[in-house]
Amino acid sequence: MSNPSLLILPGDGIGQEVMAEVRRVIDWFGAKRDLAFDVSEDLVGGAAYDAHGTPLHDDTMAKAQEVDAVLLGAVGGPKYDDLDFSVKPERGLLRLRKEMDLFANLRPAQCFDALADFSSLKKDIVAGLDIMIVRELTSGVYFGEPRGIHTEDNMRVGVNTQRYTEAEIERGARAAFDLAMKRDKKLCSMEKANVMESGILWRDVVTEVSKDYPEVELSHMYADNGAMQLVRAPKQFDVIYTDNLFGDILSDCAAMLTGSLGMLPSASLGAPMANGRPKAMYEPVHGSAPDIAGQGKANPIACILSFAMALRYSFDEGADATRLETAIEKVLADGVRTGDLLGDADTTPVSTSGMTDAILAALDASL
Ligand code: NAD
Repeated sequence: MSNPSLLILPGDGIGQEVMAEVRRVIDWFGAKRDLAFDVSEDLVGGAAYDAHGTPLHDDTMAKAQEVDAVLLGAVGGPKYDDLDFSVKPERGLLRLRKEMDLFANLRPAQCFDALADFSSLKKDIVAGLDIMIVRELTSGVYFGEPRGIHTEDNMRVGVNTQRYTEAEIERGARAAFDLAMKRDKKLCSMEKANVMESGILWRDVVTEVSKDYPEVELSHMYADNGAMQLVRAPKQFDVIYTDNLFGDILSDCAAMLTGSLGMLPSASLGAPMANGRPKAMYEPVHGSAPDIAGQGKANPIACILSFAMALRYSFDEGADATRLETAIEKVLADGVRTGDLLGDADTTPVSTSGMTDAILAALDASL
């Protein structure tokens, strides 16, 4: 059997630096755990614009459709800020999400004990936190028609439309219930059924889907209360399923419970391919960080944790995903820190590759 395939799209700025570190981790799993991947690399974002005049070449898009998983770094940078909207680096990312039909965005919010002091919340509220937000990614108010700005009675009117079909709600719900089955079997669905018809339909469809998952304890919460509960007592949640708009806000809110942007991975999943694996793209939440790009200061952990998610969700290698996460936890517990994780600590920060050196050493020690 051939090895599973990975397409690596480093993108711009620190995307290129952190992805170089992920390649070292991928090589480690090939050499030490007999988990070899066929890795290819291509351009996205500003790098693709510089080479091809487009943020995503058609050939790259075709490759992304064929591989078992895509790993993306980050796109964008000041150099591209004045480009036309149609060729901005972010368009490359949006095209990948849209054409691969990645409808379920998984955003874990996990608090490593060693970093609990970093949260803006009290340590005992976030220590040990491990929740997963599943955000519907391809529909809802960001895509609904009609939309636009027009003039009525000499006044400008801005319009966006929240629109969900049953099928769109259902497929995301199934992804969320499947995840809950692999975790603590608790799912909280969030909408605004008190004021929005789309919320009433959302609650109805999720309740219907729950009949296929009798082991999962389902609850419903209005999204505004959900935001309050996330900062009041976030550990009450396991998996949260919510729509595109609420998910955008709630996942950023949950992410910040855990400290630095440099620690946050994500996955976007679509329908199963012929080999049973879901269409999938894994990427850190952070951007290209032009302020520190090229200086060896970027924290590679978000991108390395995104690869751990690929091991778990695309390749069914949960034990090795845990091995990698545990190695990262150990390195942090040992006090190894990139600059973004220093806080008030009187420690000398390690470089981007220094952090990976420590993670690889911890992986070696795990054998
Ligand atoms: P950013 O995430 O790039 O950076 C925000 C802050 O966090 C910066 O101070 C940065 O130094 C720091 N930071 C981010 N990742 C870090 C890491 N791994 N290690 C250490 N520090 C880290 O967001 P921004 O500054 O608003 O945007 C910069 C560019 O990135 C823009 O062009 C924006 O459009 C783009 N962007 C891309 C993505 C993506 O590719 N998914 C996401 C967000 C922003």
